[in-house]
Amino acid sequence: MNECFWLRNMTVMGQGAPNSIRKLGKQQGRCLCLWSEERGFCRIYPVPYGYVRDWEIIDVEVRKPNDDGRENSFVICEYETEWKNLSKRIHVHKTTTKTGKVANKALSRNEQIELIRKLAKDTFSDVRNNKRSFGLIKPEKFDMFLEKNKEKAEGQATLGYTEDNSIDNIIMNQNDYAWLPYIKYSCLGKCSSKHPHTSKVVEWGAYQWMRTHPNSEEHCKKLIKNYHVGEEGYEHYLLIGNLRFHISTYVIVKVVRFKVK
Ligand SMILES: [Zn+2]
Repeated sequence: MNECFWLRNMTVMGQGAPNSIRKLGKQQGRCLCLWSEERGFCRIYPVPYGYVRDWEIIDVEVRKPNDDGRENSFVICEYETEWKNLSKRIHVHKTTTKTGKVANKALSRNEQIELIRKLAKDTFSDVRNNKRSFGLIKPEKFDMFLEKNKEKAEGQATLGYTEDNSIDNIIMNQNDYAWLPYIKYSCLGKCSSKHPHTSKVVEWGAYQWMRTHPNSEEHCKKLIKNYHVGEEGYEHYLLIGNLRFHISTYVIVKVVRFKVK
């Protein structure tokens, strides 16, 4: 077993939509993309729902996985036995607000914009050719569309319910969705791969939106509007990450967007 150690002062950059984890009896876990000046981009998984939000600053106790060759990829220490309560392993930094309340520490909007602009120097070919786990790309242009999920069997009823049966707790894994969002983009920087690139979006927030009417194309299509695709006055960046069993295939972990005017 690989030794556990702490990754500290990591900013939560993005969270993927859940997948079912075989080692955990098919319970859902997600991948996080974390970043720090010292470590760069790191992937940690599996992470249950509810521990962290984007832009928060966290410490997390991890180890190297036994069966994942991707750069800077880690699993949570003892997740197999402590899945129900990982609070010993995941700590969100705290801060005191002006009104004296203790709150989770997160980057301010200005800090987010500053960090993203600083990091968004990658192109698809840089990231893929160097087998990097993540890259942040400023697209020259991009478009978003939905595709019918070919892996979803006809009439599949995989929705599971937790105790309180509320819509927020319906368990849906990425592959349970009828529609999957994709982005076609060209990099702004120098890129030796053929343009445009087409990648699936796995951002958790996108699936949270679709899950309320997962089979309605009309509803799911509103994602494109939510992301302000093609709207004036918005800056967009694509955080890409690679797949465990196809390390030269990249998906979009997050579509970072800021209204700047
Ligand atoms: Zn490119």
